[in-house]
Amino acid sequence: MGDIDLEALVRNIPDFPKPGIQFKDITTLLCHGPAFRQVIDTLVERYGGRQLDTIVGIESRGFIFGAPLAYEFGIGFVPVRKPGKLPAETYQIEYALEYGTNSLEIHCDALKQGARVLIIDDLLATGGTVAATAALVEQAGGVVEEIAFVIELSFLGARQKLEQYPVYSMIQYD
Ligand code: AMP
Repeated sequence: MGDIDLEALVRNIPDFPKPGIQFKDITTLLCHGPAFRQVIDTLVERYGGRQLDTIVGIESRGFIFGAPLAYEFGIGFVPVRKPGKLPAETYQIEYALEYGTNSLEIHCDALKQGARVLIIDDLLATGGTVAATAALVEQAGGVVEEIAFVIELSFLGARQKLEQYPVYSMIQYD
């Protein structure tokens, strides 16, 4: 959908934030109005016919794509955030990184029991972040209908980790 070459608008930054990592910088896509609109329109087209109750966005770039979608569908947006940011009672999950661990939180009362959830983030790398988010959604009573990304680093093989969920991505790097 749309004729703008989105991949051409993603900027590759070598060795950021550390040597050996090629960072996919989406700010160059976001500041191109028609391209940003094409990303959102593509998601609207894909999910418009689905029975979704809530969009869950992962801090912080997942918020950029999740919020306009929730607005368009007239359904709720729920943020999954880094520790210490959400003010009410939370469920928390810790997950492994290459070196060390990270944590994420969701408000305990953010989802209705059985809520059909679409999880959104900007980029799928190893899949650790989104697997932890899916576990949080389930702990909070939600059902993960699908997980959507703008970019997927397919060569990292994260889909194996996410076998039990449908996964969609707009741009793949093999
Ligand atoms: P992961 O848990 O490995 O799937 O990492 C996903 C999270 O880290 C996402 O929120 C991405 O925004 C960020 N991330 C990981 N690798 C990259 C990369 N090469 N370029 C840009 N963002 C990345």
